[in-house]
Amino acid sequence: YVSSFAYAMVRYGLMVVTPSSIAGDVVNMMPDLLVVIGLDRRISLVNRRLVERLGYLMEEIVGKKMEWLIASPKAEALCAQIETTLDQDGIISDQLTQLRNKDGRVFPVRLDAVRARDRFSNELGNILIFRDISEAQKMLEKQEEIINELTRTKERMLSILGDTTEARDEAKLKAAELAKAVEDLKVVDKMKTEFLSVISHELRTPLTSINGYTGLLLDGQVGQLSDDQKKAVEVIKREGGHLLTLINSVLDVSRLVAGKSLEIKKEPVLLKRLLEEIALAMAPQLNENRISFSVELPPDFPTIEGDPDKLSQMLTNILGNSLKYTPQAGWIKASGSLQGDQVEIRIADNGIGIAKENLEKIFEKFYQVDSSITRSTGGVGLGLSIAREIVEAHGGKIWAESEGLGWGTTIKLTLPVA
Ligand code: ADP
Repeated sequence: YVSSFAYAMVRYGLMVVTPSSIAGDVVNMMPDLLVVIGLDRRISLVNRRLVERLGYLMEEIVGKKMEWLIASPKAEALCAQIETTLDQDGIISDQLTQLRNKDGRVFPVRLDAVRARDRFSNELGNILIFRDISEAQKMLEKQEEIINELTRTKERMLSILGDTTEARDEAKLKAAELAKAVEDLKVVDKMKTEFLSVISHELRTPLTSINGYTGLLLDGQVGQLSDDQKKAVEVIKREGGHLLTLINSVLDVSRLVAGKSLEIKKEPVLLKRLLEEIALAMAPQLNENRISFSVELPPDFPTIEGDPDKLSQMLTNILGNSLKYTPQAGWIKASGSLQGDQVEIRIADNGIGIAKENLEKIFEKFYQVDSSITRSTGGVGLGLSIAREIVEAHGGKIWAESEGLGWGTTIKLTLPVA
């Protein structure tokens, strides 16, 4: 068996490698699709790769015309053009076209072709090599998709950027308009303040004579008044007094608004004495309402440097509020202590108190927590803003503390000792 097998190998050359057997292997293993067209312009040979890719049997392919392979309505024109080019140049490279497999699916290919000749230059036919570029094409399409997406994103970003710039320009325009409006308002505000100031001055003169003459009437200097007349004149005097305080407040405020800082004439001031003087002046109202008022300052409480009139006005405003906002039988306590180079004064009452959110607002001009209460007591919402101006003009601070409505109020202020 072994010897007969060895004989067959030698006799028929089974183990012999020849150039044609190598060429056959190469042709079948190459990744491209090979087609040989004979002189009759029909397919005479194809490689295995082409058979696999197209899905036909070898017999179904061989003998077909070249146009049969090409999946294009212009297949005939293309084949004619290939022939012409090969006639002229003998070679074609990188021509793009398409093939169709048995399922009818079309795929892109790149064609290289050469005219085959024998060694006497006789024409043998054409050799066509198709390279399947479906994958490359897919990659290309994917790339294109990504590029398109990127372009769209860029356009979107540019448009957002455009919108932002537009919004910024608009905001700039609005800011300029607002600045202009603020300037206009300032002018109007200044005019209003000047007007208030003039009117207040004009009102003060006649009021002073009204108050003076009511005083004369009450003293009996121009004849005795009956009890009823006295009561009526007392009302005139009290209301006249209210009006004068109000006008003075408006004047103070308009002076401050006009940018003129308070004139502070400094001299030694005993705050204890100021408080006692005010208590004396307020005694009738305190008694009338049965409100107790105490002043508790330590014996070593220092003399401070300040304007006695202004400080008195400030304390009167604060104590006047305590009186206004404390119900009958309540109490008001003024106390103080030395803290470093400052004194702290506290005016506490057990009156109606102030809600937390209003503690800062009450120092604004014309701010009143409840104007219906204050209307009956004659305030206009200027007392504390004037008090703050006076304290700050002395280099101090003022603020309010309260545990809330119904829990009383403490106004605290600091003043530098010297
Ligand atoms: P007004 O003339 O209205 O008293 P102020 O500037 O003196 O103006 O005070 C502003 C507001 O602060 C008052 O209307 C009142 O609502 C509130 N307020 C001031 N002091 C007290 C206090 N001791 N107790 C309760 N509320 C007060």
